[in-house]
Amino acid sequence: MYKIVKKEILAKDIKLIGVEAPHITYNAKAGNFVVVIVDEKGERVPLTIYDWDKERGIVYIIFMEVGTSTKKLGLLNEGDYLYAIAGPFGKHFNIQNYGNVVIIGGGVGTPAIFPIARDLKKSGNKVLSIMGFRTKELVILEKEMKSVSDKVIIATNDGSYGKKGLVTDALQELIYEKEKIDLVIAIGPVIMMKAVSDLTKIYNLKTIVSLNAIMIDATGMCGGCRVTVGGEIKFSCVDGPDFDGHLVDFDQLLLRLSAYKDKEQESLTYCRLNKKIEENKNV
Ligand code: NAD
Repeated sequence: MYKIVKKEILAKDIKLIGVEAPHITYNAKAGNFVVVIVDEKGERVPLTIYDWDKERGIVYIIFMEVGTSTKKLGLLNEGDYLYAIAGPFGKHFNIQNYGNVVIIGGGVGTPAIFPIARDLKKSGNKVLSIMGFRTKELVILEKEMKSVSDKVIIATNDGSYGKKGLVTDALQELIYEKEKIDLVIAIGPVIMMKAVSDLTKIYNLKTIVSLNAIMIDATGMCGGCRVTVGGEIKFSCVDGPDFDGHLVDFDQLLLRLSAYKDKEQESLTYCRLNKKIEENKNV
């Protein structure tokens, strides 16, 4: 059991928790992820590490309440315990001096870019960060990203904060402005990573994406997270999660991610029903 020592609500349905897990902070690096099991009967949920405090053994994760498990995770408070947290998993990001790096975070993919941007900056890169959100109320980590970037551009789909448009609009603008770009990194919804990769392919800009395929064991055994990259089958848990965006078969990944949509909806309905029964019992 792993104690939750910090909890913060960052935006609607987006929460940060700090968990006592020295076995993770001991070896955590930018780009790694953890697998969380909320309770004894819970499923395994892969979540990217946002930050960690090695001395205190605390790992920080940020998640959006989307399905049953993340909703259950969101109900836990400081002082409560997680049933399990395993990791760090995945290859860490290859930090080196690339030169001028544009790092793009889409929505709740933004926490995943924070430690990578921080380490890239420390390694002497010029870090230009683009953060995209649907609307102002969903903007998170602005201050934190500013602290590790040379420049931060925020885009909202509805124009309620920052520039109006998608992250690809902001990237296109940088390209038009003849900004020198040596590497593009994109983490967020698959459709966003696909759009970024389609755009950078035109300009021959090397692009790395982080794939959030459906995962079970996260150690390369189940094969659930298989993706096709450059015509070869890869496991995003052990071969990734970072891959060359120009080689990823995004259409296949999108299809695989939608495979359990009905089951996910069923599970949510079942949980809501159970919650209602519990509430009625207490009346
Ligand atoms: P969202 O749907 O609100 O989109 C965030 C931003 O992405 C948008 O504001 C827009 O700027 C951009 N975007 C979306 N669709 C686009 C398109 N078609 N073309 C260009 N840009 C587009 O995002 P959300 O609801 O916060 O979801 C975040 C996603 O990030 C989730 O799917 C989650 O699984 C994923 N994620 C991935 C990782 C990883 O390591 N790969 C880590 C955390 C989260």
